[in-house]
Amino acid sequence: MRLRNVPRAEGTIQNHPAVIKRPEAQKGCWRQVFGNSKPIHIEIGMGKGRYLLTMASLHPDVNFVGIERYTSVLLRAVEKFDTEEFKMLKNIRFVCMDARDVAEVFAHGEVARIYLNFSDPWPKARHEKRRLTSHEFLERYEQILVPGGTLEFKTDNTELFNFSLEQVKSSSWTLEHYTYDLHHHEIMNEGNVMTEYEEKFSARGNPINKLIAVRK
Ligand code: SAM
Repeated sequence: MRLRNVPRAEGTIQNHPAVIKRPEAQKGCWRQVFGNSKPIHIEIGMGKGRYLLTMASLHPDVNFVGIERYTSVLLRAVEKFDTEEFKMLKNIRFVCMDARDVAEVFAHGEVARIYLNFSDPWPKARHEKRRLTSHEFLERYEQILVPGGTLEFKTDNTELFNFSLEQVKSSSWTLEHYTYDLHHHEIMNEGNVMTEYEEKFSARGNPINKLIAVRK
């Protein structure tokens, strides 16, 4: 699980105190990383980090870990963290890794909630297993989530959303809530924090889909 060699990103990320350099070494020890036993929520495919940074500032009672595959993208999140608005946050860390390895980084029951926002659609059938809501990934999430822990998924891509609903329904998860129009759903939209992609796509008039699934 090595950081990819992206010029400029590499140095900043390697030296940043909020970036966990060897995440697999923290497996089972994330409480010590944060120095407390608050619940841990992770976002997989965090992108430029606005969602998670905003969530961390709104919810000081929760610890957040942002996972992103590319250093070039993670760099943008780290630079945002370093701004006046966010740099005082103590409840957020960043990890550069592929989500396939998530069960090597978190122990059984170490995570209370997983956020997937506007995950890559991988539209070709032969790439189905790469979708972050496929059975393969749900099984990985089951290994790290506490029983009763939740998965929250937002996307404007209705094909990917329907696929995800099917994957959840045909697994051992419980589909708790879903909507094809989050921004007009009074209850599910309460407290909604928009991601970078959500702002972009909803400004174009695309309805946003959301599901919440519970690990048994
Ligand atoms: N969540 C952000 C948002 O809603 O604005 C970014 C969405 S962007 C379409 C998807 C992000 O997920 C990209 O930054 C991509 O690099 C990251 N990503 C995709 N597959 C991943 C994987 N297997 N592991 C970690 N990150 C991944």
